[in-house]
Amino acid sequence: MTVLVLLDHTDAGEPRATAPELVALACSLGEAEGVWVGAAPLPAQLPSGLARVHRVAVANDWAPEGEHVAPVVSEAVAAVVDATGASVVLLASTFENKDVAARLGALHGAGVVTDADSVAVEHGTVVAGKTVLAGTWTTRVEVVAPLAVVLVKAGAADAAEPAAAPEVVEHAVAPSYVGGLVEVVERTERAGTGRPDLASAQTVIVGGRGTEGDFGPLEELADELGAAIGATRVATDEGWIAREAQVGQTGVTVSPRLYIGAGVSGAVHHRGGMQAAGTIVAVNNDPDAPIFEIADYGIVGDLFEVLPQATAELRRLRG
Ligand SMILES: Cc1cc2nc3c(=O)[nH]c(=O)nc-3n(C[C@H](O)[C@H](O)[C@H](O)COP(=O)(O)OP(=O)(O)OC[C@H]3O[C@@H](n4cnc5c(N)ncnc54)[C@H](O)[C@@H]3O)c2cc1C
Repeated sequence: MTVLVLLDHTDAGEPRATAPELVALACSLGEAEGVWVGAAPLPAQLPSGLARVHRVAVANDWAPEGEHVAPVVSEAVAAVVDATGASVVLLASTFENKDVAARLGALHGAGVVTDADSVAVEHGTVVAGKTVLAGTWTTRVEVVAPLAVVLVKAGAADAAEPAAAPEVVEHAVAPSYVGGLVEVVERTERAGTGRPDLASAQTVIVGGRGTEGDFGPLEELADELGAAIGATRVATDEGWIAREAQVGQTGVTVSPRLYIGAGVSGAVHHRGGMQAAGTIVAVNNDPDAPIFEIADYGIVGDLFEVLPQATAELRRLRG
């Protein structure tokens, strides 16, 4: 069974941190092969275990940045699936890759599983494990389609060690009309925050699903308080913020003097990493949110109204 791994990488050609985990997982399922999309140079070393790497050059005439667009990446991966007859594609479970996987699923009639925390082959069938309903249920998903496209969460496998890059197979893909409909005008890497270290910060502001990916109001308040920014697993799974920011049972444990949770429900797995905080402040628009059970101060309201008011008041008090 050929298992393809989409090797996410930076523009400079540095594989993302999830790549070694995906490759190790792929090796446990069958023959692992990598897919490298775009013009970035292949590194001298890649996670060990890859039988070969398929480098896909994207031929486009609108902008070199076009190779990062989900329709183009999905068509590039689809071309490698066709060339190899692969039956499984593994991708890191990121916001962008969910778009890629959905398109790949549509192109190939594949079964797509998102947010898997385990993948196995049982009697020739790909079976993924995933939790649903805020982590209260663990489910088993069997893929009955000939091609399984599985988005795997970080931490699902131990990382493969680096090794010399294997044989490279070159491919060229001219994106379809759909792929050419999007033009990336500019991409800017987010600069470092210069904020305190999350695990040791005296003040921590955590954003959850309620932020809907907009951490702007949290960052403004954090600037006023000299606070570190953390997140729930939902926020990191969505790719809204780096995984290192996750607070909770499977993330960083924090014990600041002040914890402020915004749009955080207070699920048991999150509490496990923050209950030791000296003072807990919760901002949530649901008066029945569990976080209010442990909060010293609870504000029932919309975080997009409450946090800017707090920031403005702090600025006023400081003149
Ligand atoms: C094995 C395992 C390990 C886990 N480890 C962790 C972990 O380490 N850390 C972690 O955080 N989670 C972890 N989880 C996930 C955890 O169970 C919850 O799913 C997660 O913490 C919920 O994140 P959330 O509060 O952002 O989202 P939700 O539970 O969806 O809550 C979002 C909250 O935002 C509120 N809201 C929505 N809009 C607004 C608004 N505009 N203003 C104010 N409030 C708003 C809603 O009322 C809701 O209460 C784990 C799960 C499992 C199964």
